[in-house]
Amino acid sequence: MSTGMVENFPGFAEGISGPVLMEQMQAQAERWGTTVYLEDVTWVDISQHPFRLSTADQQLQALSLIIATGSRPRRLGLPREEEFWGRTISSCAMCDGNLPHFADVPLGVVGGGDASVEEAIYLSRYASRVHLLVRGSRLRASQTMQERLFRNPKILVRWRTRPIELLGSNGVIEGVRLEDCESGAVSCLSLKGLFYAIGHIPNTSLFRNQLELDENGYIVTVPGSAITSKDGVFAAGDAQDHEFRQAITAAGSGCIAALQAERWLSAQGFLQPLQSSAADPPAAPEKAPTPGADDQVDLKVTRHWGGRALRQLYHESSRLLVVKYASCDCGPCHILKPILDKIVAEFAGQIHYVEIDIQKDKEVVAEAGIVGTPTVQFFKHKELLGEIKGLRQKNYYREAIQAWI
Ligand code: NDP
Repeated sequence: MSTGMVENFPGFAEGISGPVLMEQMQAQAERWGTTVYLEDVTWVDISQHPFRLSTADQQLQALSLIIATGSRPRRLGLPREEEFWGRTISSCAMCDGNLPHFADVPLGVVGGGDASVEEAIYLSRYASRVHLLVRGSRLRASQTMQERLFRNPKILVRWRTRPIELLGSNGVIEGVRLEDCESGAVSCLSLKGLFYAIGHIPNTSLFRNQLELDENGYIVTVPGSAITSKDGVFAAGDAQDHEFRQAITAAGSGCIAALQAERWLSAQGFLQPLQSSAADPPAAPEKAPTPGADDQVDLKVTRHWGGRALRQLYHESSRLLVVKYASCDCGPCHILKPILDKIVAEFAGQIHYVEIDIQKDKEVVAEAGIVGTPTVQFFKHKELLGEIKGLRQKNYYREAIQAWI
């Protein structure tokens, strides 16, 4: 979902954007009767059957479970990293790379795999120069990606170097101190932004002490299958694969998991004949103005789009004003959209909600001090009450609205 272009998914000769591929997969699953809950699972108990799961909104029971919780970006853990994180250090170039403060300035990317090369190429569209900081003497990235990298005149690969210190203040990075991994020599590099692409950590903490995990936290599966250490529980994708980690290998392992879960359910006598009514059409979305029609703000309407609507609502709205800043290239923004849409629908008539596309409304974005996407800001009576940066659990947004409405 957070990958910009997936170049190696079969059937897409020109590549396909990660978020678009995910939207297509969801629509396909729903066409076949899948009910999709956009919730964060906060608790799981697989010690008894049926398995039990909790989200902020509901309790669920499952006869079988397929775990596909993926992985999250790894950090370097440098001193003062937290101070810069989410402002001028990021792990998602597609989310943050096109923000105004990264335009025409030197940027750095740490890593040597496909992700780092993809990020460096993406950032080269906006930056004056991109320094790719590779700790070894070779790249792990695929040959195709390397060819694109070395053809790009804006990218400079700095071999055998690693950042050891962040320079700057108040969240604004001015450079990094680099160490030569062979000689130990130290040098300074001037940078206005740093992007990490140094691998991932599997999202499996919910299953610790319930399933067999390896020393890095990946779910252990029987080789060539999705079978875990617990009967009826299957695992697919990056939560159990530290080696291949491709969209297509994840999709393939998801298919194996689905087939094995179906066989297991059948063997246990749990399978019901398919009901034709299973595929209920999704609820009709709230009637809203066409995106872009931001020149006629109707204060009775909850949802709006664009900078002009925001300016008018900022001055005229007496409701809580919720503003989402997002970018079409940003995977977490695509994940947040349906989550926030649902919450906004819960508060229809009580709040005003504006979606800002950071590529279209650059001036508004600069005025609002947005340094990463997605960001959600909350205003009332022209006062900024707070903001939520990055992607958070659904209840976090709901509680913020409830607190300030
Ligand atoms: P990888 O594990 O492939 O690469 C991680 C890179 O980060 C390595 O070069 C590693 O260096 C470096 N690294 C790790 N820790 C540190 C550290 N502490 N300091 C400096 N460097 C560090 O991860 P990716 O996320 O790049 O890729 C994961 C998988 O996803 C791969 O299978 C890849 O092919 C796939 N992918 C495919 C894409 C596409 O097709 N468009 C895009 C992105 C990812 P070293 O090599 O020295 O160990």
